[in-house]
Amino acid sequence: MPETSSEFKSIIRKVRAHEKWFSVSLPMIASENVASRQVREVMSSDLGHRYAEGWPGERVYAGCRYIDQIELEAIAMGKKLFRAGFIDVRPISGVVANLAVYSALSSAGDTMLALSIPNGGHISHGKRDFSGSAGLVHSLEIEYYAFDRDKMNIDVDASAKRIRALKKPPKLAMFGGSLFLFPHPVKDLAPVIEEVGGTVCYDAAHVVGLIAGGMFQDPLREGAKVMTFSTHKTLFGPQGGAVVSTKEFSDSLKKAVFPGTTSNHHLHSVAGKALVFAEFLQFGRRYARDVVANAQALARGLARKGEVVLGEKNGYTKSHQVAVDVTKYSDGGAMEKLLESQNIIVNRQLIPGDLQAGRHYTNPGGIRLGVAELTRLGMGRGEMAEVAEILHLAMAGSRKREVVQRTKELRKAFQKIKYAFGDSPAYFFR
Ligand SMILES: *Cc1c(COP(=O)(O)O)cnc(C)c1O
Repeated sequence: MPETSSEFKSIIRKVRAHEKWFSVSLPMIASENVASRQVREVMSSDLGHRYAEGWPGERVYAGCRYIDQIELEAIAMGKKLFRAGFIDVRPISGVVANLAVYSALSSAGDTMLALSIPNGGHISHGKRDFSGSAGLVHSLEIEYYAFDRDKMNIDVDASAKRIRALKKPPKLAMFGGSLFLFPHPVKDLAPVIEEVGGTVCYDAAHVVGLIAGGMFQDPLREGAKVMTFSTHKTLFGPQGGAVVSTKEFSDSLKKAVFPGTTSNHHLHSVAGKALVFAEFLQFGRRYARDVVANAQALARGLARKGEVVLGEKNGYTKSHQVAVDVTKYSDGGAMEKLLESQNIIVNRQLIPGDLQAGRHYTNPGGIRLGVAELTRLGMGRGEMAEVAEILHLAMAGSRKREVVQRTKELRKAFQKIKYAFGDSPAYFFR
């Protein structure tokens, strides 16, 4: 028997190369983070080979003795972390959690309110015309909130007027988004939405770690009945999703998750979610506070260098994100590539006004920066000043070698995961 094959070796080599590249880079994609050693270890455990289906104690498969205990402990910790009457940790991603909510709380043809994509909305809230999940998969009609570009937030008065004027009032109102700098006015608009018979939902995919850490807003206390999230963005867990709600929706959500939108859920990921909830109960408050302080320091550093940082009127950001208009250089697509060539990993971003200016998803006007991962690697405000300088140099594109060198130098002291139990190297694939 051959010991290995060239095809097999090729893949292993590339995974190693990826880790090596990221260890000398600035990983700044706002939807990404790094999980602790223990979360990564349970992700490669035998749990990942198994089937459970159903709720703990009511499984469709045998062999779930420990799987049930793990899931019940995840549920208990999740309820505590979010002060929620109900949590389902089975959705295999944030989009799947959203689909479960659409299925549980609306019917095809109903209206849902959401943010448009250039104003920060996510494709899973999108219209059928753009292949958005809400329109394409659940046939929802989407109406948009009015948006105030200066404040980079939902315009309360104009939105309230729009909601009351809708011929077909919204069954669901989704708050939250992907470009998400400031807390949404859930408290102000929830009464208007309820007045016309709608249920308020909140997509916390991006900001859930900040919510759990008490640093953003608390949707379930502000009028939202349901909150979905991803478990791998500001919550530094494995890739996955979850949904929390008040008790009244628990039965319909359970059915919408299984069998509605998943058959088997990912049991290794449930164990990873349980560990990350435990990590957040311990370290969440400090982590969330440091993330927001870092994002604000980065935004100020970039603005000082003359970059066009959005949200200036409100102090640039109250989340883990910073949005920069790069149209004075080129466009977000070109900038994303230019930065990647210098080991700075960010993504291009549609920003308000792009569509009117003829810019689209491939060549939008902005880039979005996230500091959740750099913070988890241990960087603080001092490092954010250097990151701002490096970014400013990199955007000009004329001193590539210096940028690569300074980035590598900066990363030297940040190769481990903080806000974790025990020693946790960031890169350990062999
Ligand atoms: C990232 C994101 C999602 C999707 O999450 P996945 O876990 O990738 O499926 C949903 N909603 C919003 C607002 C997001 O930003």
